[in-house]
Amino acid sequence: MNWTVPYLDLKQQYLNQEPDFLDAFKRIMSTGSFILRSDVQEFEDNIKTFLGVKHVIGVNSGTDALNLAVQASSIQCGDEVITVSHTFVATLASIHHKGATPVLIDILDDYNMDASLIEQAITPKTKAIMPVHLNGRCCNMDIILDLAKRHNLIVIEDTAQALGAKYKGRSAGTFGDMGCFSAHPMKILGCAGDGGFVVTNDDQLAEKLYLLRNHGQKTKQEISFYGFCSRLDTLQAALLNIKFQKLPEWIERRREIARTYNEAFRELDIVCPNYDDQSGADYFDVFSSYVIRTPHQTELMDFLRENQIEAFVHMGPHTLADQEGLANKEMALDRTRSLTQQILSLPVYPEMTAEQVNYVIEKIRDFHGKA
Ligand SMILES: *Cc1c(COP(=O)(O)O)cnc(C)c1O
Repeated sequence: MNWTVPYLDLKQQYLNQEPDFLDAFKRIMSTGSFILRSDVQEFEDNIKTFLGVKHVIGVNSGTDALNLAVQASSIQCGDEVITVSHTFVATLASIHHKGATPVLIDILDDYNMDASLIEQAITPKTKAIMPVHLNGRCCNMDIILDLAKRHNLIVIEDTAQALGAKYKGRSAGTFGDMGCFSAHPMKILGCAGDGGFVVTNDDQLAEKLYLLRNHGQKTKQEISFYGFCSRLDTLQAALLNIKFQKLPEWIERRREIARTYNEAFRELDIVCPNYDDQSGADYFDVFSSYVIRTPHQTELMDFLRENQIEAFVHMGPHTLADQEGLANKEMALDRTRSLTQQILSLPVYPEMTAEQVNYVIEKIRDFHGKA
């Protein structure tokens, strides 16, 4: 399909920096430096500075960022980990693959964990909390960190969708013991395939993560423990370093589009995402997705698609809690179930032109019978 407004425009993103990508490709291919070379370290240093965090460990996906974080933590088989149903399945899989049980709690209107429900989900088996910063918005980390401290729980943040998001001036992913990020092409900073990274301020966890991603090999001669093959490729790191230069500009453009949408949809029967614009606001959102709520989820999506606008219902209309193949422990999920019937993701990406933004607005107003 030839969309007037695609959901993403990775082709345009490539063309905008094509000469730099080709240079990097030639440099790496012609030297054969593919595994854990300086580009990976350069990428890790870039992210350290950007997030204000002590350690960054490049890995091969956001999924493995979560897997390795769980492996590096003291979460054991039989433990319980409190998280949400309204996330990508990889969050829950990382807990499951350790033999632990995800305990799913409900969300707030901003689609993030309702931290006021954590305490009643805690049992003697509870070992960790895994907040997910969805759609580019950080969770309320004050409440989560306070509870974690009082109950002696580990905090692993799923930050796959929230690179650059902040809460009270601090970067999402740097609050807990570890933060897990994805460089999948759909995310804020994506490579040409799979990539990810774990961040931490804890020296011991960092040491463990460096070993876990590379077969537990301390040196070629010394293997500390059984690890995994989960390195960030040098080529991917090189591409990410090129895109990294645009990251602040891209985040600003995403916020600008979100602001324009929110303004334009104000008098329509649509619930727009939170947008805290005033200076000193607690939340700095990066809009990895722009998600509205509408009582006409399917009709509006179909209408937009008929008009060559690529909209999606992500993480709905079925919740992970309702997937029969994934047996999880769940608390009441009324809001999760109700919101997933209403959500709709609209195109938001830095390459979007003003004409494309206006076209989406026009069509959404059309649907609501407004000129
Ligand atoms: C994308 C995503 C992941 C997984 O990241 P990959 O890089 O695709 O493996 C995990 N959690 C959330 C919330 C995500 O959006």
